[in-house]
Amino acid sequence: MNNSLAEVHPELVSEWSEKNLPLKPDEVNAKSRKNVWWRCGKCGNEWKSVINARVKGTV
Ligand SMILES: [Zn+2]
Repeated sequence: MNNSLAEVHPELVSEWSEKNLPLKPDEVNAKSRKNVWWRCGKCGNEWKSVINARVKGTV
C-alpha cells in the first residue's frame, strides 16, 4: 500500500498496539482519521488516538 503509516512514518510502527491486529500499520494510510490503539515503548501504557493526529505530532 502506498503512503501507508509504516512507509511514511516507520518510527510510529513500534508504538502500534497489538489491540489493532489484524490491522497492521502497512495497511492504513498515514493520513487516515481512523482511531487506533498505541502502546508506549517505555512504560507499556496504551491509549487511543487518530492516526493523522499522531503523524502531525499533536498527540
Ligand atoms: Zn510511557
